[in-house]
Amino acid sequence: KKKPRILILGAGYGGMMTASRLSKQLGYNDAEIILVNKHNYHYQTTWLHEPAAGTLHHDRTRMRIDSVIDTNKVKFIKDVVVEIKTADKKVILEGGELDYDYLVIGLGSEPETFGIPGVEEHAFSIRSVNSVRQIREHIEYMFASYNNSEIKHEDYLTFIVAGAGFTGIEFVGELTERIPELCKEYDIDRKKVRILSVEAAPTALPGFDPELVDYAMSLLESRGVEFKISTPIKEVTKDGVILASGEEIKSKTIVWTTGVRGSSILDKSGFETMRGRIKVEPDLRAPGYEDVFVIGDCALIINEEINRPYPPTAQIAIQQSSTLSKNIKALITGSGNLETFVPDIKGTVASLGGKEAIGIVGSKKLYGSSASTMKKIIDNRYLYLLGGLPLVVKKGKLNLFS
Ligand code: FAD
Ligand code: NAD
Repeated sequence: KKKPRILILGAGYGGMMTASRLSKQLGYNDAEIILVNKHNYHYQTTWLHEPAAGTLHHDRTRMRIDSVIDTNKVKFIKDVVVEIKTADKKVILEGGELDYDYLVIGLGSEPETFGIPGVEEHAFSIRSVNSVRQIREHIEYMFASYNNSEIKHEDYLTFIVAGAGFTGIEFVGELTERIPELCKEYDIDRKKVRILSVEAAPTALPGFDPELVDYAMSLLESRGVEFKISTPIKEVTKDGVILASGEEIKSKTIVWTTGVRGSSILDKSGFETMRGRIKVEPDLRAPGYEDVFVIGDCALIINEEINRPYPPTAQIAIQQSSTLSKNIKALITGSGNLETFVPDIKGTVASLGGKEAIGIVGSKKLYGSSASTMKKIIDNRYLYLLGGLPLVVKKGKLNLFS
């Protein structure tokens, strides 16, 4: 009898953890497991604000996939997914196609532009190793260009971060660490450099604990960040941004962090989506499909308490991998009912650069270095789940208190 084939698309938090768990839970003869990803490495999306600003080398955030997964049990294919053809139970790749018996979609997210003109053409985004390398290089290029020009272009030294959600705030925090270093290196007065955080809502980090938001904003302001709150951006041009008020702010660096939507592959493949995400069944299958599971930023689940979607996070993607792998095993071995996914949100911790962070863990509020230590513990915990102690030693944030 032919072994059923489990095809996992995307080697992010969801895809990697699913591959890792299935390789432990299933025997050789139970199934064939294939993992497809764009690159031969896995990167930790949750660290990307650091290499984007240049405070951490990007190699620290990535690892070769075949160095982490059990290649005896999981076959890795480096290729780009183009479309999913559920009617034929196959996936079209740039370099070929693959059939499946069970499909796991873990292709992550894309920047939400809300159709705002100019974003795609003129703004940067924090979404992959390659995208953040470009941001880091561009920022440095602006410093170099400023110095090597007779006319002093102030817009070269104006850095705009659109959206003060968690990604925007974490990136701004790293910038406040990096900019002084660049000022020193290029002999530029720090006062000449502007870092702007532009947010549409009446506060930064809308919905988060107000005390922690105040702490974060005051700290970042004391490091020279200018907040423009209740200030939606309505257009991005090659010269800067245009605010809803009509005012223009000139800048050559706009980093767009106004939220995410699910991979465009889902819409393209004919799935019904909300902001590009599939509202999954309790067992994490796509509605109407027996054999298609969705994980991470591609999956939408509702928080019944407030009747709104949970924000997509790595925390949820990792938790989903546990339910999802058990459910696939149950289908393959024919052993019983499928489990319902119940998120268990432990909290939220966000870094502010250096030794600073804010967070809520359980019902406890954390500030400063205790929050920053907690953030590193969370990062290390993931590495432990994925590759045990050796991976923590190799890739972890070991210096917990500095
Ligand atoms: P991802 O981890 O993004 O992985 C998707 C994978 O699919 C990637 O490897 C990509 O290369 C691959 N892929 C995409 N398209 C294709 C294709 N067409 N073909 C082949 N492969 C493809 N969440 C938290 O819980 N805690 C945090 O502290 C936190 N911090 C964050 C900080 C930043 C700066 C950002 C941007 C996000 C943060 N998040 C955090 C959110 C978190 O990163 C995401 O929710 C999480 O990465 C989702 O996991 P995923 O597996 O769905 O997708
Ligand atoms: P987000 O949706 O959390 O925040 C986007 C922000 O952009 C919002 O505050 C929104 O009001 C603002 N905005 C929208 N349109 C705008 C406009 N035209 N002009 C100005 N501002 C505008 O998105 P994100 O920060 O990209 O985060 C994406 C996901 O990743 C979220 O689910 C988040 O929880 C998660 N994340 C978590 C962490 C953490 O836990 N430490 C860190 C980063 C991201």
